[in-house]
This record gives sequence, C-alpha cells and structure tokens, in this order.
Amino acid sequence: MSRPKFKTEYQRKINTLNVYIETLKKNNTYNQYDVPIAYFKIIIATLKIEEEYTVEFAEENKQINKYLEPLPDFKPGTMKDDIINIFKMFYNKYHYVRNNIETSDSINCVFAKKKGKKPIFKPKKGEVCHECNGVYSNIYHVPDNIWEFVTGFKHGEGTLCMPCFMKKADKKRIRLWWQCEEGRMIMEYPEKKI
Ligand SMILES: [Zn+2]
Repeated sequence: MSRPKFKTEYQRKINTLNVYIETLKKNNTYNQYDVPIAYFKIIIATLKIEEEYTVEFAEENKQINKYLEPLPDFKPGTMKDDIINIFKMFYNKYHYVRNNIETSDSINCVFAKKKGKKPIFKPKKGEVCHECNGVYSNIYHVPDNIWEFVTGFKHGEGTLCMPCFMKKADKKRIRLWWQCEEGRMIMEYPEKKI
C-alpha cells in the first residue's frame, strides 16, 4: 500500500491531525478527550487560513505550520498516549503554536475570515469620509453638478468615501456609471473653474 501523497505540507499535517481526532473520538467514552479534539480542530482551521494567507502570516510572524513539528503520521501501534503527548506539547502556553493561534487575530485578514467577513480595507493615509468617518484612499471624480445634487455640499466641498456617495446617490434615485483607471496615490487637486 502506497502512502497517500499530499499537495502541500499543510494538507499532510491536516490529514495527520484528522486521524488523531478520529482516533481520540473512538476512545472518548468519558469525554476525556474533548479538549484535545477541540484544540486539534482549531489547529486545522488555523492551518487552512495560513495556507491561504502565507504572506500575511509570515509578515506578522504568526506562522504555525513551521512550528508544528514533529507531527508524526499515525501508524498502527501509535497509542492514544502518544497523541495526547503531542497535544500537550502544542497546547503548552509557551509554545509558538499555541501563542500564534491565540494572537493571529491581529492579522486583519484572519480576523475577518474568522468573523466570516471580507477583509476590511484600512488605508493609513487618505481622506476622512464625512458620513461614516472611514478613511479612504481611492480617488474618484464627480462632476460638480452631480456632487452638489447628491451631497448637498456646494462648490465641490466635502469628502465622502465611494460607498457613502453611492448610497446617497441611490437615495436620490441617481444611477451612477463608474470608470476605473490606474492612478497615483497622491491627491491632485484640479484648478477650480469659475
Ligand atoms: Zn463613508
């Protein structure tokens, strides 16, 4: 029998952990393995997110894949005690795996993923929207007459992020048509026409 091949190291580890979980579940008569089972599930969930966001995890030093060693394949003869010892090693609060799992929420995309939301775009620089107070850095141009009608701001004053501007336009029953261009981040103010 040949060993199953896995595309990535992540998938190999996830498979191994799933075998651990199944083994513990079969022997979980008194619910004595509830915590190890739950913890292995959390490790699997975090591995899946890390595989998707390897760059972000590396940038923030929150990887768990590289610290999840040794994680031996389950072989016939492996005892429940062996699995529990592996659990104890990674569950130690001073271990990188435990520590990084507990703090990985600091990565924006991980937090968003866990909450089932799309990543929140938070530029550090930009304009502050008068409506939602969010900071936005995408620049868009609106002809003065439309801007005034939709926002009520005169002479092109005021700042609104695009979603807020679109909401306001929607309320005024104006259908917008946008065109996208690659631009520079630096704001350029066109000369005011009189
Ligand atoms: Zn806004």
